[in-house]
Amino acid sequence: MDEQERRERLAALRWQVEAGADEALAAAPVDRLSAPAAAAVAHSPVAVPQPAAMEPTAAAPPVAPARLEAAPTQTSAPASTETPAQAPVKAPDVALAAETAAAAAPDLPALRAALAAFDGCGLKETASNLVFADGNPEADLMLIGEAPGADEDRRGLPFVGVSGQMLDHMLASIGRDRGNCYITNMLPWRPPGNRQPTAAELAACLPFLRRHIQLAAPRVLVFVGGTSAKTLLARSEGIMRLRGRWYDYAPGGERAAIPALAIFHPAYLLRSPAQKALAWRDLLTLKVYLAEAADRDSRPSPAP
Ligand code: URA
Repeated sequence: MDEQERRERLAALRWQVEAGADEALAAAPVDRLSAPAAAAVAHSPVAVPQPAAMEPTAAAPPVAPARLEAAPTQTSAPASTETPAQAPVKAPDVALAAETAAAAAPDLPALRAALAAFDGCGLKETASNLVFADGNPEADLMLIGEAPGADEDRRGLPFVGVSGQMLDHMLASIGRDRGNCYITNMLPWRPPGNRQPTAAELAACLPFLRRHIQLAAPRVLVFVGGTSAKTLLARSEGIMRLRGRWYDYAPGGERAAIPALAIFHPAYLLRSPAQKALAWRDLLTLKVYLAEAADRDSRPSPAP
């Protein structure tokens, strides 16, 4: 390939990335113009763009609609017109498989392995890496974000892109870092193009997250952003209403309810810096709570 051709190919690639085609779904290209319509539809996880919502979100629009069934899993073979459309996995089957696999994990490494083996969420097919967690699993504070972005997908760690830098600043403001926090997401795989997760994707992965919370057993939970707060609290209000308040989150199993605080997502604060004052107020609430809890722990227990 000569220099001119190389430059033209790079320009064509850049054009595709700028147009949003930034995911490789298969090793070989598929000419969908020559493929029968039905086969093309069966292999296209299309996200229907919707108008941007007023509620702050971690991911930028477009918003994918919620689906009642989990996304069909793809084989690793390149899509071809010969391949029959796969039967979609029914949501109850996905939920049962997720519950069973998650409940069987006795510790965090086993839970990570169970997630890696789980085929009930189609996002696994387009993601480069599983993003399980970062930080200290022994920490008293566990933060739960939404889903990995491009940087997280590349590195296999949560909150390592620009949002992550902002989150690190937020944590630093209350004397915390990844050595004394544990961080994960609602979803362990990146939604293509950073679209918002669908209800089916969240439901498929929720049993793993609940088991994650049970096993990490933090003293305090922080729901980072609206998706995390709304899903885990099963509430319909947005983060504007949910933030800054304490909730009891019951992770199930033997574990008692855990105090949980909802805060703005750092991606939202980057887009709306005027909201930082509220975010800092919430972080102060968290700092005071953690200090009081540590103080209670350090006091000698009263004599019987
Ligand atoms: N946003 C999230 O919610 N989680 C990440 O890991 C990165 C960005």
